[in-house]
Amino acid sequence: MSELILTEDARKVIIKDAESTYPHECCGFFYGSDDDKRIVTEAIPVVNTKEENRERRFEISSIDYMKAEQYADENGLTLLGVYHSHPEHAAIPSEHDLRQALPYFSYIIVSVKKAKTAAVLSWKLNDQGRFEEEKVINQNNPFDVDALLSNFNQ
Ligand SMILES: [Zn+2]
Repeated sequence: MSELILTEDARKVIIKDAESTYPHECCGFFYGSDDDKRIVTEAIPVVNTKEENRERRFEISSIDYMKAEQYADENGLTLLGVYHSHPEHAAIPSEHDLRQALPYFSYIIVSVKKAKTAAVLSWKLNDQGRFEEEKVINQNNPFDVDALLSNFNQ
């Protein structure tokens, strides 16, 4: 199982977006690095451009994809994937999600029940074009000043 390290800052943004957009689906991009480990350091919401049925669908415009790539380039980050929420449904990708999925990206899905986050799972396409779950590892903010100082003082 591949791993996705989710920092506290990024997790907070995703959860806040998922809960405040309820009962509609939220969506957004996340960024970070992908050297020996895939680490999500930043998440940014985007507007769900779907006109109808926003309880069950999300859509990100091609302009938003271009902007996301540009943002990553300008900030020395890697665009790692897309998150969205499933209001009143499990955090498991739908057939629709599978049809829209791109290789390489991680897909974080937040299950929101009664406006509260119930689960945060991540999925990635395998070589057969099917979703495989990734292990989500929550990490506290790596730039925690107290933690840095205690390292320097050792
Ligand atoms: Zn979905």
